[in-house]
Amino acid sequence: DTLLRRCYTNMLAAFFGEPATGACEEGARGPRLQEAPRALGARDEGGGAWSNGGSQAEPAALGMYHPPAAFPAVPHHSWQDALLLQVKDLAKHKDSIYFKDSRCIAIYDAYPKATVHLLVLPRDTSLLSLDCATPMHLDLMQHMSQVADRIVAHLKAAQFRKLSFKVGYHAIPSMRLLHLHVISEDFHASERLKHKKHWNSFTTDFFVPSSQVLATLEREGRVVMPAAKYKALEEQGLECPLCHAKFPTIPSMKKHYKLCYDKVRQ
Ligand code: AMP
Repeated sequence: DTLLRRCYTNMLAAFFGEPATGACEEGARGPRLQEAPRALGARDEGGGAWSNGGSQAEPAALGMYHPPAAFPAVPHHSWQDALLLQVKDLAKHKDSIYFKDSRCIAIYDAYPKATVHLLVLPRDTSLLSLDCATPMHLDLMQHMSQVADRIVAHLKAAQFRKLSFKVGYHAIPSMRLLHLHVISEDFHASERLKHKKHWNSFTTDFFVPSSQVLATLEREGRVVMPAAKYKALEEQGLECPLCHAKFPTIPSMKKHYKLCYDKVRQ
């Protein structure tokens, strides 16, 4: 019954040119690399971080972190596919792209939850989520992780010396297409971080480090995130990840965390 429903959904999705809903497309599990990107656009000359094609022998240079003033509107009904739409139409979204090579792109998060917030996305649009990841994706996901680490090293050296960073996945993501968060840990600094779920999604084990995901995929051949465990983390009370003090509201949590973070970073 479930299989039939999924087949119908995928048939309809294919008909409308949309990606299949939720689950991974069975026929599209393997890596499906797209054509290597064309060489650089206007942002190159402006000192942005477009790549030159990203050959491993000569990694592309990284530029300044400079989010666009506005992001292209996404139709309300397809908000969950906003990341997919960006990968599928890079030209339309070039101002939102911080870096690209032949296998992945890094885009500015449209609702940053800290001073720096980027998402590294595979150019293989069949890799919709961690659920879809197989050992065949290991190499691609290792590459995404290396790109994320390079970005962190670059931003710390060039622009954000005082910030610390995290690189990882949300155990239960809200958007389709695998996305690796690269985020600074000054969560008090963003007005976009407004809710308990936001706080918990970046400060608890709901945020799974990329290294942990890669190790699991390598060891077990898949990555399973038990929903009940992670839903409980998302719903738990507000707690400082540095000193474990508890707070009743986001404003009080952020006020405390700013002091705690500044003390640790001194
Ligand atoms: P997740 O909870 O892991 O699925 O995170 C999805 C991320 O995508 C969040 O950090 C959102 O702020 C971000 N986001 C949502 N819509 C867009 C968009 N149109 N462009 C870029 N980032 C987005």
